[in-house]
Amino acid sequence: MSTQHVQRMSRLMAKTLREDPADAETLSHRLLVRAGYVRRSSAGVWTWLPLGKRVLDNVSRVVREEMDAIGAQEVLLPALLPKEPYEVSGRWSEYGDLLFRLKDRKGADYLLGPTHEEIFTLVVKDQCTSYKDLPVMLYQIQTKYRDEARPRSGVLRGREFQMKDSYSFDVSDEGLEESYRLHREAYVRIFERLGLDHRIVSAVSGAMGGSASEEFLAPAEAGEDTFADCPSCDYAANTEAVTFALAPVSAEHPALEEVDTPDTPTIETLAAHLGVPASATLKNLLVKVDGEITAVGVPGDREVDLGKLGEHLAPAVVELVTAEDFEGRPDLVRGYVGPQGLDKVRYLADPRVAPGTSWVTGANRADTHARNVVCGRDFEVDQYLDVVVVEPGDPCPSCGAGLKLDRAIEIGHIFQLGRKYADAFGLDVLGREGKPVRVTMGSYGIGVSRAVAALAEQTADERGLCWPAAVAPADVHVVAAGKAVPLALAEEAATTLAAAGRRVLLDDRPGLSPGVKLTDAELIGVPWILVAGRRSADGVVELQHRATGTREELPLAEALARLT
Ligand code: ATP
Ligand code: MG
Ligand code: MG
Ligand code: MG
Repeated sequence: MSTQHVQRMSRLMAKTLREDPADAETLSHRLLVRAGYVRRSSAGVWTWLPLGKRVLDNVSRVVREEMDAIGAQEVLLPALLPKEPYEVSGRWSEYGDLLFRLKDRKGADYLLGPTHEEIFTLVVKDQCTSYKDLPVMLYQIQTKYRDEARPRSGVLRGREFQMKDSYSFDVSDEGLEESYRLHREAYVRIFERLGLDHRIVSAVSGAMGGSASEEFLAPAEAGEDTFADCPSCDYAANTEAVTFALAPVSAEHPALEEVDTPDTPTIETLAAHLGVPASATLKNLLVKVDGEITAVGVPGDREVDLGKLGEHLAPAVVELVTAEDFEGRPDLVRGYVGPQGLDKVRYLADPRVAPGTSWVTGANRADTHARNVVCGRDFEVDQYLDVVVVEPGDPCPSCGAGLKLDRAIEIGHIFQLGRKYADAFGLDVLGREGKPVRVTMGSYGIGVSRAVAALAEQTADERGLCWPAAVAPADVHVVAAGKAVPLALAEEAATTLAAAGRRVLLDDRPGLSPGVKLTDAELIGVPWILVAGRRSADGVVELQHRATGTREELPLAEALARLT
């Protein structure tokens, strides 16, 4: 291991705070600010100070190594993007308010990239012409922009944040499955190396044009996601996924009364039929836009403000989804219950519009979600149906044990996109038989900056941050608890450790009591704390293990031997 520099606290730009920031709702937000890792610039926009930047870089390094290991190639695309490709994909309008939009001096429209499927598709269209050029996997670690409705929890949900996004390009479905599998395995290794406790849950993405999608969730109180988890087997599902294969529910849930619906849905009629105010926010509202079933809102964040729906879809033909659209597509039937607070999930069918026309939309009961419902099995066309919500203790679909519902942070998301973007951009390569072959794609994201906060959430205690070794800003925090002899001993310890390749933080700040320095060391959360204090004259130091809190007095040489 190569020699490291000693980072002196006397020179380090990291002002620790005794008080929690007033607006901080979550543990990671409070501690990352208090320990001097990050600083708020504006709502959802953060400055990474030296300690924070080290942790962020450590996470990036692990991600980069594992992406390289599966043969993905690193690139860097612009964050400043022209409007046109996002118009081609439809996301310029679909994204609505989530997109940061701007104009150049000539009045041309630009956006700050929220995710880059369109642009990667174009890069590959430009660079790859033959099946021999594929498969290819590309990734970047880049700043992303999303004008989140509720930027909160510090870097957990930023409006500017770091994401590792990768994209795979294959000529066959089997190829896509292999690229997906490689990513899935790389993600498991990444989160294991980072020390992030995580679950992989299925996340149905049917309406988004994808065929398979899974989320990596880090269980944590501060999480904004809820997932169902089986204590007895490995079953786990995102509550949005609606993948519960429970007994048919039609018998328990007879049809509701029919109500009139007009031929063309408008915001007002839609809202009236759902029994919600026109200003409500819904998730997973399925309608047909220009003939395509679409979840209104944003991929992965399918929330829509009913009042804005008209705006989003203004240039498109909006039709009701019909029951036929769901034939063989149970993944399209969903009823997510978000935190907004509707009463019911309703599957609406209106015989007046067209035989079997259905509206499928979300509902709102906090931390619950609809069981799997299959059109024709669980409800008849022309019926209204109240869908059951999943509650803690409901039977696990695979083993019958009582399910738990837990909070978690989404740290990664992998999608088999299929040919959605290749179709939109005409991405073909010359196939083996000399004919053009349409390319099939996957997209895969990790929230790099969010992972820092997720780690903080999972590992911190009442004394402060407590980093796993792989991401910690240093290996050892050496505290000079006194002037003269303790300081000299601390300097010696720091120099020796650095020469042995350990990353060292040395608290050499003059005029601070040992108590203050120790409190800071615990707040900063480096795995080992080595204190040169009262017994320095005898060459004895105290070695503390931050995570377990164990302390031991021992001769410096012995302490160094343990740490190197
Ligand atoms: P969320 O459901 O939390 O809004 P998402 O599903 O919209 O996330 P994706 O589009 O799947 O996010 O992006 C890939 C990854 O980027 C996410 O799994 C998450 O880790 C990270 N991410 C998304 N939005 C943010 C954000 N606002 N701040 C920090 N990280 C984010
Ligand atoms: Mg997602
Ligand atoms: Mg999500
Ligand atoms: Mg989102």
